[in-house]
Amino acid sequence: MGLLDGKTGLIFGVANKRSIAWAIAQALSREGMRLAFTYQGERLKDGVDSLANTLPDSLVLPCDVTNDAEIDSVFASVDKELGRLDALLHSVAFAPREDLENDFVNTSREGFKTAHDISAYSLVALTRAALPLFEKSGGGSVCALTYYGAEKAVEGYNLMGVAKASLEACVRYLAANLGPRNVRVNAISAGPVNTLAARGIKGFTSMLHHHAERAPLRRNVELEEIGNAGLFLLSPMSSSITGEIMFVDSGYNIVGL
Ligand code: NAD
Repeated sequence: MGLLDGKTGLIFGVANKRSIAWAIAQALSREGMRLAFTYQGERLKDGVDSLANTLPDSLVLPCDVTNDAEIDSVFASVDKELGRLDALLHSVAFAPREDLENDFVNTSREGFKTAHDISAYSLVALTRAALPLFEKSGGGSVCALTYYGAEKAVEGYNLMGVAKASLEACVRYLAANLGPRNVRVNAISAGPVNTLAARGIKGFTSMLHHHAERAPLRRNVELEEIGNAGLFLLSPMSSSITGEIMFVDSGYNIVGL
């Protein structure tokens, strides 16, 4: 018997086997949850298909989170195929490379809008679209992914830090708004891990070294550890936790000097 037998989840943000979303999906599936996945653009379809096919009864659908029609169509398909929804994972972020690499003061208006649309507003849009399906399950749990650069100015993180601050505020406002409907909304603030998105951050490799040296546990986090934290937040194990930003970072955030 798995902890999540009979429950269903929808996963946004798998690009490849190094994606945090894939680590969380594997943990959810291990406990018996049936999963639907989305992919952004045809380029990623085959990769996501072949990962999803390793899990029982999975569903794979296209969705660019900037496109409202695609969002509607994903939730219509999930309704038809799965009939309910218990968990929603938002593991999606983007900022134009030049806006990450330039001095922060030179952030462009367009880049600012794009980063906030994809990395923060999409959490609101996806959670809203999930509500009718959560209702069928008597409630739901939403989990997003964030980073310490939302709270502190981290060199090289720039515009993405501002978008993550917005995402974290969205987590709290959604949690306050939807708690009465038994919908919980939380985020994992993950320590750095080497993924496709991370490679867009200038100096990422030295960030990894610095983190491993300074964190109380003296090492970086493993994808599997973020997977297990996602499982916790998306399962009834965390049933009275909402609006939280939970660090999974080997303790890095608690250190001063
Ligand atoms: P990743 O590249 O594997 O995942 C990012 C995902 O965002 C990809 O699947 C990509 O297709 C998707 N995406 C981007 N724009 C999109 C759009 N318009 N529509 C739909 N999907 C879109 O990298 P990851 O590191 O697994 O990132 C997942 C989440 O974790 C992100 O929110 C990221 O900011 C966060 N995070 C990552 C780290 C890290 O060090 N890797 C640390 C903390 C938080």
